[in-house]
This record gives sequence, structure tokens and C-alpha cells, in this order.
Amino acid sequence: ANYEINGKVIAITGASSGIGEATALRLADHGARLVLGARRTDRLDALAARIRERGGEALAQTLDVTDRGQVGAFIDAAVQHFGRLDVLVNNAGVMPLSPLDAGRVDEWDRMIDVNIKGVLYGIAAALPVMRSQRSGQFVNLSSIAGQVLFPTGAVYCGTKFAVNAISEGLRQEAGADIRVTTIAPGVTASELFDSIADTATREHLEKEFPDPIPADAIARAIAFAIGQPADVDVNEMVVRPTAQT
Ligand code: NDP
Repeated sequence: ANYEINGKVIAITGASSGIGEATALRLADHGARLVLGARRTDRLDALAARIRERGGEALAQTLDVTDRGQVGAFIDAAVQHFGRLDVLVNNAGVMPLSPLDAGRVDEWDRMIDVNIKGVLYGIAAALPVMRSQRSGQFVNLSSIAGQVLFPTGAVYCGTKFAVNAISEGLRQEAGADIRVTTIAPGVTASELFDSIADTATREHLEKEFPDPIPADAIARAIAFAIGQPADVDVNEMVVRPTAQT
């Protein structure tokens, strides 16, 4: 166990698969007390049970991050159950890539709602709690797609550029008590590609992208950032497969 992580109350959005799930398991092994949010509650319950079997503590809570009320209730549940909130991992995200010509406006809306507004609702709910505690940390999932553009990625990259801007703005305003970490993963094994409904785009990317690194590689980076002493703020980490250009 990492003594900086042990006992911390850590809420993770999008904990039902991929990076969120791997992060929950790794942080639980370091002694964190977890609050798990996503829409697929069956998955969350199974994950919470797995964490308890390993001797950890976890609370599963239904969460749609596009619903401001549900995000508020998620943070409230953490505070009610565990008495505080040390870290919010804003991880929930979707990536339905497609060319703009395809006109998939509903998917643009969904990316903006989940990837941008979901993060903002998390900040709105958790920041007052962390202010009153005079301590806390946000870990926001951006992407390499928050640094470079590629065709079919206009909207998705736009949402991740927004995550970077929001995170840096939060960092500048947060002051000495609250840490802000942005994680930029490269191609990582998860269910994220399943959200690509545009078949041509999906087939192209599956050929183009290198073999993914495991989700636990990102979980280890998140654990490293959380595991630093309170006066050390790891602001940005880029973690990608060696083969990714
Ligand atoms: P997954 O698809 O495996 O996980 C996404 C998670 O987000 C799921 O748990 C899903 O849960 C949740 N989610 C989606 N919509 C909502 C919603 N409206 N409310 C609550 N939860 C929601 O993908 P990853 O693990 O890869 O993605 C995690 C983050 O990492 C994302 O922000 C993604 O953009 C980022 N990322 C991933 C990369 C990769 O290559 N995998 C690369 C760079 C960044 P449920 O459906 O149950 O609600």
C-alpha cells in the first residue's frame, strides 16, 4: 500500500470498464476507499464485490454524468458514506469518431455532454467539498487527442482540448490546497472503440492504431499522481504505447 493513497476516499466516474475499472482495482490495492459511478450498475456491483473480496472498501452508485443532479448525488453519496472526498477521477468518456461530413450531430452532442459537461458537473459538485476540507485532488482524463488532431477526431479532440483548458483553469484558481492532474493516455485497451458507430472510421483506426497498452498502465500513472505528498502536484502525464507515433 502507498501511504499517501491509503485511506483516501476516491470517487471514479466511468468505473464500469476500461481505465476506470483498472484504476479502481489498483487504488483499492493501495488502500483507497472507492466510490464507483457509471450507468451499468451490474458491472459496478460486480467490481465493488471484487474489491471487497480483496479486503477493500467500495460503494457503487448509478451515475449518468450528463445529469447534473446525478453527479451531485454521486458526490453527496461519497461524503455521506465515507465522511469526505479526497479525489475525484473524472474518467467517464465516449469517443464516437466520424468525419464531420457524416453529420452525426447527436454523437457530437453526446461527446460534449459526457466528455466536457460531465467533467464540469464533477468540478461543480466536488470543489465546494474540497474547499471546506481544505484539501482535495481532481484527476481529469484527457488524451493524446487533446494534443494533436486527426481526421474523424474534430469533435472528440475538441472535447479533450477543452478538458485540458478546464483543468489548467481549475489549477490556476485552485490554490495551494487542491491538486489538479490531467492524464493523457495513448491507445489503451478498453471498450472505448465500441462507441465508434461509423464503421468505416472504426475499421480504419483498428488498422492504423498500434497494439494498445493495458488499462492498468494508465491506472499506475493515476496512482503515481495521487500517491505524491500533498505539496507535490503532478499536473500532466502522457502515457502511450512505445509504438504510437
Ligand atoms: P471505456 O469505454 O472502457 O470506459 C468508458 C467509461 O465511461 C465506462 O465505464 C462508461 O460506463 C462510462 N460512461 C460513458 N458515458 C457515461 C455517462 N453518460 N455517465 C457515466 N459514465 C459514462 O473507455 P476507457 O476506459 O478507454 O475511457 C476512459 C477515459 O479515458 C475516457 O475519458 C476516454 O476518453 C479516455 N481515453 C481513453 C483512451 C483509450 O485509448 N482507451 C485514450 C485516451 C483517453 P457506462 O457505459 O456503464 O455508463
